[in-house]
Amino acid sequence: MNKITILGSGTSTGVPILGCNCKVCKSTELRNKRFRTSALIESSSQKKILIDASPDLRTQLLRNKTDALDAIIITHDHADHTHGMDDLRPYGFKRSEPLPVFTDASAAKDLKRKFPYIFDRDNYFSGKAILGGGIPLLDLKITQAGPESIVDEPFEFFSLPHGHEDTLGILHQKMAYLVDCRQVPEAVLKRLSDAKLELLIIDCLRPNPHSTHLHFDLTLEYIERIQPKTAVLTHMGHEWDYLDLVYQLKKRGVKNTFPAIDGQSFLYSNA
Ligand SMILES: [Zn+2]
Ligand SMILES: [Zn+2]
Repeated sequence: MNKITILGSGTSTGVPILGCNCKVCKSTELRNKRFRTSALIESSSQKKILIDASPDLRTQLLRNKTDALDAIIITHDHADHTHGMDDLRPYGFKRSEPLPVFTDASAAKDLKRKFPYIFDRDNYFSGKAILGGGIPLLDLKITQAGPESIVDEPFEFFSLPHGHEDTLGILHQKMAYLVDCRQVPEAVLKRLSDAKLELLIIDCLRPNPHSTHLHFDLTLEYIERIQPKTAVLTHMGHEWDYLDLVYQLKKRGVKNTFPAIDGQSFLYSNA
């Protein structure tokens, strides 16, 4: 079996939000504490593949006792998915080969601009020695919508409309991971429905519509179309109280759909 662990299920601010006094942000309910969105796949072939480098990454990986990684996928270049990049540096201490970082051409361009000392090393250091504790040993691999082999694991990517750029939707074996999108295109819905998923992890920012994310009604519409065995809601804001969301799902008669909890793992088979 393959395993995916939700390292973080929160929107860009995390929950609680700094300075917010709302019921959810002040709540003592542990299921309302959400790190920024990241996840870790542990494949049946024992490969560890990180999805996104959130600003909470170091704490997330320590809590999950992740001693090593084999590859990283960056869904898109937004701060809440990339600014933990430097926390990956210690994984390089035990490696001679760089860790591959898969992302699309647009995000790769932004990563080079934001992290020139990691991804544009030759220009940045221009012949000077790298002093001090070194830099993260990462190697950008540009990918696009379509099949991709990552450390010999079969992946398929989809382009999902988000903000000014697209996000990479991910299909791995019987699991799909769709975050940070305002819409799931028809062809992707058909592909995922045909894939007979065991697990769908999907954006569900808040109850009301949003310009760059899925909201409750649209998320549920897509789950209904894709028909996974289990659906898990992620990238949630402080509009969602965990138990209230469970109640809302029950009230609507939605089956096998759960809000994500940070640290929670799910198993899924090979395709
Ligand atoms: Zn995000
Ligand atoms: Zn985003």
